[in-house]
Amino acid sequence: MSIIVDTDLCEGCGACLTSCPYGGVEIIDDIAVFTEDCNLCGACIESCPVDAITLVRGERIERVDKSQYKGVWIIAEHYKNEIHKVAFQLLGKGRELSNTLNVNLTLVILGDKFDDKLEEVGEYGVDEVIYVKSAILKDYYSDLYVNTLTDLITEYKPEIILIGATPTGRDFAPRVAKRLNAGLTADCTGLDIEEETGNLMQTRPTFGGNIMATIRTPSSRPQMATVRPGTFKADKTAKKKVRIIKIEKEFKEKDTVTKIIKIIARQKEKVNLEDAEIIVTGGRGVGSMEGFKIIEELANVLGAELGGSRVPVELNWLGEDRQIGQTGKTVSPKLYVACGISGAIQHLVGMQNSEIIVAINKDPLAPIFQVAHYGIIGDLHKVVPALIEELKKTKSE
Ligand SMILES: Cc1cc2nc3c(=O)[nH]c(=O)nc-3n(C[C@H](O)[C@H](O)[C@H](O)COP(=O)(O)OP(=O)(O)OC[C@H]3O[C@@H](n4cnc5c(N)ncnc54)[C@H](O)[C@@H]3O)c2cc1C
Repeated sequence: MSIIVDTDLCEGCGACLTSCPYGGVEIIDDIAVFTEDCNLCGACIESCPVDAITLVRGERIERVDKSQYKGVWIIAEHYKNEIHKVAFQLLGKGRELSNTLNVNLTLVILGDKFDDKLEEVGEYGVDEVIYVKSAILKDYYSDLYVNTLTDLITEYKPEIILIGATPTGRDFAPRVAKRLNAGLTADCTGLDIEEETGNLMQTRPTFGGNIMATIRTPSSRPQMATVRPGTFKADKTAKKKVRIIKIEKEFKEKDTVTKIIKIIARQKEKVNLEDAEIIVTGGRGVGSMEGFKIIEELANVLGAELGGSRVPVELNWLGEDRQIGQTGKTVSPKLYVACGISGAIQHLVGMQNSEIIVAINKDPLAPIFQVAHYGIIGDLHKVVPALIEELKKTKSE
């Protein structure tokens, strides 16, 4: 590993000097020069306002010409000729990012028999669809995806690529990123554009979810991120006329090292938290399995799905398919009611994108109130029955 300074970019401002904890850099003739005290920690890279410093791992990586990269891509995966819903959710976020950058939003599909479905995606604000068509691509072939996507990205040079953090997305995304020497941030819960630089700010939980890290990949392109289903919302309000680029390929089984013998569909989940419009949840504060009866009743009155934090799942008060958070489901319903949940960061990352959050907690300092739109401070065993009664009255009126 070594550190290099681009002498054309370096202005000798000294920001690296101030940021270096080891005194490993000097400014000589208005250029940063690294001394033997530099331990390659990389603190200076973040601080450099002109991106002149690069840490090189292994072979020397050429600095990419970022000006050649334009546009936001969403890679759609599909099963039985249906596009996975996470692609539409990513288009919602992708439209926002592409509006900020004033660039095109593109949906990329590697598949077959999608010809009639491509215009429809215009409802989600897509400017362009790149459709790689081949009969074999009706199924997912890991190596064909990796090769085809790498070639497409090398040719079209998008600056941002968003992929669903599904088993399929998690399989091909890192392999494509490696081929392209690009940065990839997995399981992002927030995506934004940095105003001054136009870089993608990729936020995700780290260190067991105890802190949220915002990651940038300022010196490589494209910037790639995976996002779990349910993190963002599909948005049908931005209808566009779609430009379709269709690329016909004659892939054969001999072109892939994989042979698909049988596809076994996963059993459909009984609990569908990701698509629920209303979710009522309980945490340790509910107190017991018996205590969950009123939480369930509130869910029934509201026509909601029932969920919970990790604690009631660990205590067997709830099934594990109902856990919400970092190691459970990610949800973004219209209404999320949290009863007796403190609001640990590992829970918040799974529900903080909900449209309206109502929290019931007896502790006024519970962190859940920091994300809640409406907070009720009180004992849930009194508040929830009162709410149920009022809701029933409203329904019967
Ligand atoms: C790697 C890792 C992954 C994790 N993944 C997840 C995850 O996916 N999902 C998740 O939820 N957690 C997860 N956790 C656990 C997380 O850190 C918290 O421990 C957990 O979310 C706390 O659950 P809780 O809010 O129900 O319980 P607590 O934090 O104990 O909070 C209980 C709350 O109930 C309130 N309360 C008590 N009695 C009442 C009452 N009668 N009326 C009203 N309020 C009352 C209390 O004031 C308190 O705020 C993870 C942790 C780690 C380390």
